[in-house]
Amino acid sequence: EEEEEEEEEALPVRVVARARPLLGVETVLSCRSCVAFSGGASLVLGKDRVFTFDAVYPPSSSQESIYSEWVKPLVDGCFQGYNATVLAYGQTGAGKTYTMGSGNNSCRLEEEMGIIPRVMADMFQRIEEDRFLSGRELEVRVSYIEIYNEEMKDLLHPSTSSKSIAIRERGDGKIVLTGVKEVQVNSLEEMQRALDEGSLCRTVAGTMMNNQSSRSHSIFTITIDQQVPKRGGKSRELITAKFHLVDLAGSERAKRTGNVGVRLKESVNINSGLLALGNVISALGDEKKRATHVPYRESKLTRMLQDSLGGNSRTVMIACISPADSSFEETLNTLKYANRAR
Ligand code: ADP
Ligand code: MG
Repeated sequence: EEEEEEEEEALPVRVVARARPLLGVETVLSCRSCVAFSGGASLVLGKDRVFTFDAVYPPSSSQESIYSEWVKPLVDGCFQGYNATVLAYGQTGAGKTYTMGSGNNSCRLEEEMGIIPRVMADMFQRIEEDRFLSGRELEVRVSYIEIYNEEMKDLLHPSTSSKSIAIRERGDGKIVLTGVKEVQVNSLEEMQRALDEGSLCRTVAGTMMNNQSSRSHSIFTITIDQQVPKRGGKSRELITAKFHLVDLAGSERAKRTGNVGVRLKESVNINSGLLALGNVISALGDEKKRATHVPYRESKLTRMLQDSLGGNSRTVMIACISPADSSFEETLNTLKYANRAR
């Protein structure tokens, strides 16, 4: 059975681009949109720079559409034992946290709910529906960590020292985090509470661009363990899958944020995590490199996601952009990075 899995064709990383609407402050500053949408999977930046992705979401698109088209199928996959990763990439203020739903969700309208709350609701709905399937036992656990300056912080247990957290690769290739609190959740409400608690705890450092900005990667991980009776016999089989939901650090260059000293060092380190991710995703898209060397070890982020990026895991990257002409350069950088990932 194991062999069968290995023979499966490695799945490509899917990349979609999403533009948020112009914000009030951008309108006040007389910014104009510099991104045009033709309705297909392409967009045009400025006069003539055309980028094509697996899909493109214009400012008017809903949270629901991006979720149901790109993320819901991954939830289904998790119940079949396939790991999944959804990553939001882009400059600070481009809509990563809004899209992922990894910020404060307590006063959001239902239709504004981001990806994580939708994943949770779908999972528990499905668990309820499957409740009466004979002999099936199921356990859901969550962890929530942040990677900041290549140090890991446990957002569900902030007093844990980052030195006591380690990433280990087991003999079977599975990645496990040691020293991180995993919370077993028995209901949608318990899972939401974990998300809210951890989100509150995120390190937030002000920058000149957006004082809500975060220079850290946050990774909310849902693990589903299912004990399924084997056909005929009395024994059971353990099917386990992880779903990583990643709100990446802002992709802007240090120069742009005008930071100095300690802050500048932060930016440089964050870029190295995004750089490693770009290298991994690009290697996964290259048949030769995929077979020989995918550079997972270059950062904590890629190391931690190693068993959930590539192979038969499902991966979707959402490149978030602002349509404002004042963000032209950063948007260009984001689209180039995302393009390289395809
Ligand atoms: P990031 O996490 O990339 O720094 P945020 O998600 O915090 O960016 O978004 C910046 C601002 O833009 C927030 O006020 C957010 O509510 C708003 N915003 C982002 N995306 C959208 C969207 N698709 N529709 C409406 N508002 C959005
Ligand atoms: Mg954010």
